[in-house]
Amino acid sequence: MLSRVAAMPYSTSRQDAFKQSTYRRIYPLRVVGMGLGGLAIAGVLIEQHAHPWRWALMIASCLLWPQIALLCARMSANSYRAEKHNLLIDSAIAGMWVALMHFNLLPSVVLVTVTTFDKLSSGMRRLWLISLPGLFGAAVLTALILRPPVQLESSLLIVACTLPLLVVHTLSSSIGSYRLIRTVSRQNKLLEQLRRTDAQTGLFARDHWQQQADAALQLFQAVGQPACLLMIDVDHFKQVNDTYGHTAGDDAIRAVGQLIRDCICEEDCAGRYGGDEFAVLCQNTGQPDALGIAERIRTELLTLRLPHHPNVRLSSSIGVAAAAPAFSNLQAWMQAADAALYSAKHQGRNQVASHPTAPYAAAQVRPA
Ligand code: GH3
Ligand code: MG
Repeated sequence: MLSRVAAMPYSTSRQDAFKQSTYRRIYPLRVVGMGLGGLAIAGVLIEQHAHPWRWALMIASCLLWPQIALLCARMSANSYRAEKHNLLIDSAIAGMWVALMHFNLLPSVVLVTVTTFDKLSSGMRRLWLISLPGLFGAAVLTALILRPPVQLESSLLIVACTLPLLVVHTLSSSIGSYRLIRTVSRQNKLLEQLRRTDAQTGLFARDHWQQQADAALQLFQAVGQPACLLMIDVDHFKQVNDTYGHTAGDDAIRAVGQLIRDCICEEDCAGRYGGDEFAVLCQNTGQPDALGIAERIRTELLTLRLPHHPNVRLSSSIGVAAAAPAFSNLQAWMQAADAALYSAKHQGRNQVASHPTAPYAAAQVRPA
């Protein structure tokens, strides 16, 4: 008589803490569920003119048991496992009451359904299945011991006493499912964002950047909208690591990412291509403007200083390739930008070069 588990947390320790606190989340739901279950049972007990021991048993199982379950879980070294046992006991109690209510149809079906549903919504693996032998076993055992008559009919009083459990449980389960769906959809969005983003620099990750570049090439092929690729590689970056350590190298990569972001406009799309290599897609931009952007990145990088490693000096080589009809796919376009980059490297680094077959290919920007 409880519903749902909340969103899954991320780290293992958080996940453990989340699991171990399951009993605390279940406690109020058990109190309400068992309380309303007790009301349904009370309806039948009134009709049966039941003996006081049945009333005492109802109070013990519906009002005292949630408190005992809480104590057991709290005092256990493994409160998650203890709570799992508590949930199984909930089912056995429901089974016992099915027999004690003389199998009265409506409250029996509602109790069995609600307790089994709760095992499913607890999120504990196959718990609902494991709970069934206890539930039916308790019903059969109670029936064998007490040999109750079967009274399937439910009077208006019994219906009225059972409805609160049905209504409250259905509503709380629906609210639980709604929240769960919202959480899953939020987390899916977050996952998608993480998948698209390079964690270190906050730039687009390679795959997502390639998707954008592919779309830009298709747009060029379809309607002739210009676009340029910039492949940027930090010069002698290994030396930064070797001389100043990997922490300085990591700081430098982050700073280069930020610098690239600052040098381009919102329409453009910057990605980390891998290691010390970055890529920029300049949308709706011809090669002269793209060369200007590349030159800005190159010169800004020369003046970049890392707060914690002020002696680090960085420079970059940049290859530029404009979208052209010759590039039938993204791979061909990127190879052109790569070729320009390696030409910049071989010309002595710290410079911008454009792909020779592209328009305006003569451009070769050398440091002043
Ligand atoms: P050049 O490009 O001018 O030819 O020389 P390079 O030294 O930059 O060449 P290379 O691509 O061989 O080396 C890049 C190095 O950058 C290798 C790798 O250890 C380092 N690197 C790549 N990503 C990171 C990172 O995120 N953090 C740090 N600290 N180092 C990185
Ligand atoms: Mg490099």
